[in-house]
Amino acid sequence: MLNIVLFGPPGAGKGTQSARLLEKYHLVHLSTGDILRVEIANGTSLGLEAKSIMERGELVPDAVVIGMIKNKIDANPAAAGFIFDGFPRTKAQAAALDDMLAEKSAPIKAMLALEVNDDELMKRLLLRGKDSGRPDDANPEVISRRILEYNNKTAPLIDYYKDQDKFRSVDGIGTVEEIFESLCGVIDGL
Ligand code: ADP
Repeated sequence: MLNIVLFGPPGAGKGTQSARLLEKYHLVHLSTGDILRVEIANGTSLGLEAKSIMERGELVPDAVVIGMIKNKIDANPAAAGFIFDGFPRTKAQAAALDDMLAEKSAPIKAMLALEVNDDELMKRLLLRGKDSGRPDDANPEVISRRILEYNNKTAPLIDYYKDQDKFRSVDGIGTVEEIFESLCGVIDGL
């Protein structure tokens, strides 16, 4: 199995690149952000719990997203592999993911980290907010909060994966095609 964590701050391009990667490598895409937005759209109790947290730009509780990911992994027993997008975002989530994959003897092969500076992120997210309809993209304060949450809680995962010798940095500035080629170059060398 090819299990990959696509990593990077909000607006780094994880969703865009995931869509291309899953097509090329026949992987199942697991985006916690997308799953949460479906729950909100469906008005489930989980969605109701997550909505206000997401609108503030904070992280949804670990237990909620860990449970969601576990369900999705169990629902795809024949997958050739998974691209994890927006998950894990905390050390507790990373440890839980390692446990789940250990059960399948299919550990994470690599964490591919898209590197984009804060100014560029703000620019991209405000632009996306104009037509994505995502309330968390429309407000600079919420975007700053998300970047702060990333720096405080999520960026430490770089060391978590470095310690396992799985961290791979990829330049997230350039055309979609250029960045895709860089990602494929790393994956093909794994
Ligand atoms: P982005 O990467 O642009 O922030 P996402 O769609 O990945 O977009 O996430 C949107 C929001 O969903 C986050 O700000 C957070 O509130 C929530 N969320 C998504 N994934 C997680 C996660 N793994 N842990 C906690 N909260 C999450």
